[in-house]
Amino acid sequence: MNIIMLGPPGAGKGTQAEVLSRKLGVTTLSTGNILRSAIAEGRPVGLNAKAFMDKGQLVPDDVIIGIVKDYLETHDLGKGCILDGVPRTLAQARMLDEMGVAIDAAISLEVGDEAIEERMGGRRTCTKCGATYHIVANPPKVEGVCDKCGEALTIRPDDQPETVRARLSVYHEQTEPILGYYKDQGKLIPVDGTASVEETSEKLAAALEQLS
Ligand code: AMP
Repeated sequence: MNIIMLGPPGAGKGTQAEVLSRKLGVTTLSTGNILRSAIAEGRPVGLNAKAFMDKGQLVPDDVIIGIVKDYLETHDLGKGCILDGVPRTLAQARMLDEMGVAIDAAISLEVGDEAIEERMGGRRTCTKCGATYHIVANPPKVEGVCDKCGEALTIRPDDQPETVRARLSVYHEQTEPILGYYKDQGKLIPVDGTASVEETSEKLAAALEQLS
């Protein structure tokens, strides 16, 4: 099964993608995590993307297409894949179709703008493995330390309030039209993303079961 996680920044796409990929035993393609690793390692693709990311803008489609191509060449999607943070534009959605990535479901995690702005203040991210936490809703076992790899947790530069507002408007303008694209194909599954991580995972699992 290839499943897309859609929703505004901070809706819980990364967290729910991790839960789902463990449950289904499939890999996760997170373009945001790939870009952040490329920045941390000083690779050109990351350095080019950084200026867009820091302003809360989308990285150009051709860069994302290159990342997805690389991923497809180096990973076996035999059992399927969770796509976290891609596609983010209609052009990227069409590009996935052209590359033969057959989408089974597009989950839209629904959370309002005000709740997102509140949430983002508490988000902490591991720059090494990409895991995300929230100081109240999903805290790590040891404060400030990643449960998975032991690295120190940080606040992403693009989680600052002004940047979050810019990312929300980019989401409404450029990413929301994708919901209609998958709805027309009968693949869109809206899931309320305002509850706890566990409740949201349960709702999501129930919605996917109906599909299979
Ligand atoms: P994320 O971790 O998914 O919230 O992504 C963080 C930032 O990386 C976004 O605000 C964009 O600047 C960039 N980014 C990640 N994925 C994409 C994508 N598919 N298309 C364009 N930009 C992306």
